[in-house]
Amino acid sequence: MKRDKLIFNLLDEEQDRQEKGLELIASENFVSKQVMEAAGSVATNKYAEGLPGKRYYGGCEVVDEIETIAIERAKQLFNAVWVNVQPHSGAQANAAVMLACLQPGDKILGFDLSHGGHLTHGSPVNFSGKLYEPHFYGVKQETGLIDYDQLKAVALEQRPKMIICGASAYSRDWDYAFIRAVADEVGALVLADISHPAGLIARGLLSDPLPHCHIVTTTTHKTLRGPRGGMIMMGQDFENPWGLKTPKGEVRMMSALLDSAVFPGTQGGPLEHIIAAKAVAFGEALSDDYMKYIVQVKKNGAAMAKALTDLGYNIISGGTDNHLILIDLRNKNITGKAAEEALGEADITVNKNMVPFDDRSPFVTSGIRVGTAAITTRGFKEKHMEDIVALIDSVINNHDKEHSLKKIRKQVHLLTEKFPLYK
Ligand code: PLP
Repeated sequence: MKRDKLIFNLLDEEQDRQEKGLELIASENFVSKQVMEAAGSVATNKYAEGLPGKRYYGGCEVVDEIETIAIERAKQLFNAVWVNVQPHSGAQANAAVMLACLQPGDKILGFDLSHGGHLTHGSPVNFSGKLYEPHFYGVKQETGLIDYDQLKAVALEQRPKMIICGASAYSRDWDYAFIRAVADEVGALVLADISHPAGLIARGLLSDPLPHCHIVTTTTHKTLRGPRGGMIMMGQDFENPWGLKTPKGEVRMMSALLDSAVFPGTQGGPLEHIIAAKAVAFGEALSDDYMKYIVQVKKNGAAMAKALTDLGYNIISGGTDNHLILIDLRNKNITGKAAEEALGEADITVNKNMVPFDDRSPFVTSGIRVGTAAITTRGFKEKHMEDIVALIDSVINNHDKEHSLKKIRKQVHLLTEKFPLYK
């Protein structure tokens, strides 16, 4: 077969972009070569509908072993009792959980997207807001912290079937015990979506949702540093059927309902090459090297937040417990969109993000979101966070000066050259 130069040249270009740039998008990371190797392996050729040992296809003996190892490693990593590693993404994992636990029209209570929540937690443009009746809690304007009083008040008033915690742009830890207590009071299930902080939770650097929340979902490609994908887990509530019934009216264990909500409920064949890569990444995440990495992610997050604050940047909630930092740019007279574009010109990649109580649209926004998961993988330490923040500040102050942005871009390349990625 003739090599597809068009695509491989573009992939080389993408690698070059990743090598040269400063990747500050909080949801991104760089996987190891062995994770990439597994993701690009022969397992992509295999159909394996079903679960290990219970497949609808022949020839699954090897992928059964791979998927079993992925499950066992995930259980060990998170102290989980039950895991499904098949969701193709975080959104797929949440879709499967809702399909298993809810009926169309049921009420759900999630963290407001415009305050930092995720689309799949009830946004009207997402299945979760279209199929179910969404209600929301947010953060307190004065503190930027989750308004737990509001969460409880809305829960008591609406009596949702499911309370969802977790976020895409929230820099603080969660009080899972409180949320479970509220849920028990109103008879709701709790879904914790730990997509962003999963790696920090796995290694004990943030509160653990598994002892409190009925179901936990995560992506595998953010702080966990695995391939792009999703996963569903359960802890102590694994055996609790909650009277949830199949369409035929049989009461079944929650885990069995979740398995069948993944396949055949929302997906077809699992991506066994990605599951192999998840297994490799979970193995890495259990290692001492990863522990050092994830501790550094948190330290770098704190150092970056301090450096930004020192330069007069307004950080929502005043800091970060994980690594994610949501910067309100309103005192800097620049929109999130303009900041993202100018930083992009200097090869610093961030995403524009709404800040709580934003008066601008999601296409413009008043803020940007940054994180330290990817740059920490490259080897950056606390002392480099000041350099990076100085570069960000130069861009913000010179965002309309093409010549200055070009100069800053050179400085970015000089910095990233010292921390080679794959080359
Ligand atoms: N849940 C949360 C909290 C997220 O931040 C994200 C992605 O950013 C997702 C779910 C969706 O993950 P995916 O993009 O893999 O569908």
